[in-house]
Amino acid sequence: MGGTIDVMSVDTGDIKRLLAYYQALGFDALPISLQAINNLMSDAHAEARGVNRKSLLEELRVHIGDCQRCKLAKHRANLVFGAGNPYARLMFIGEAPGKEEDLQGLPFVGDAGMLLTRLIIKMGMKREDVYIANIIKCRPPMNRDPEEDELSTCRKFIEKQIQIIRPQIIMTLGRIALQALMERPNLRITSARGRFLDYRGIPLMPTFHPAYLLRNPKDKILTWADAQKVMARIAPITSG
Ligand code: SF4
Repeated sequence: MGGTIDVMSVDTGDIKRLLAYYQALGFDALPISLQAINNLMSDAHAEARGVNRKSLLEELRVHIGDCQRCKLAKHRANLVFGAGNPYARLMFIGEAPGKEEDLQGLPFVGDAGMLLTRLIIKMGMKREDVYIANIIKCRPPMNRDPEEDELSTCRKFIEKQIQIIRPQIIMTLGRIALQALMERPNLRITSARGRFLDYRGIPLMPTFHPAYLLRNPKDKILTWADAQKVMARIAPITSG
């Protein structure tokens, strides 16, 4: 009950035709896009074929290996691939590992990570429920901003992670993650945050980076407002 749909029992063409019909009538704010339906169907069929997201992530990690594809390789202690639930509904994407992350090989484990964990809990979830990763997998020296050649080389890995996990919603943390993922270098976090963007059919909510919030605690209330919009969008699906 409660409006859940068994996507394996419905015809893809029927869904596409129905959505196209509504869009032709001028409804431009459907709760789910054609791209998202396509993603859902291909996901369902992949699962039915036994394709396992955990295995796919492991294969991707093996493929990345001891990556030397950009100049950040020589600065890292550990490559920080990402961590969390391969079937996460919500994916957090930050910029790059910091000192603690580099030492431990895990994303968001320092003070900023603790703040992110508190946000996740406040949203009614646990860290193990979500997936957390960065655009850039190796720590830039002195925590400088990643450079364009590094972003363009590493970005394909986070794109693949998103493709495998296929979250219902992405939250980007900070300006760099937002600009890099959307490939829109002119996006400003202060004006973009709080409104959903579309990343290849997946709703994307930009918000502040937890490290910024540690320096500017008065803006925590804005990130909480962004998180509430995400919760409202996930809730009808999770309550199924
Ligand atoms: S930052 Fe990305 S592309 Fe560069 S070495 Fe690390 S994993 Fe490879």
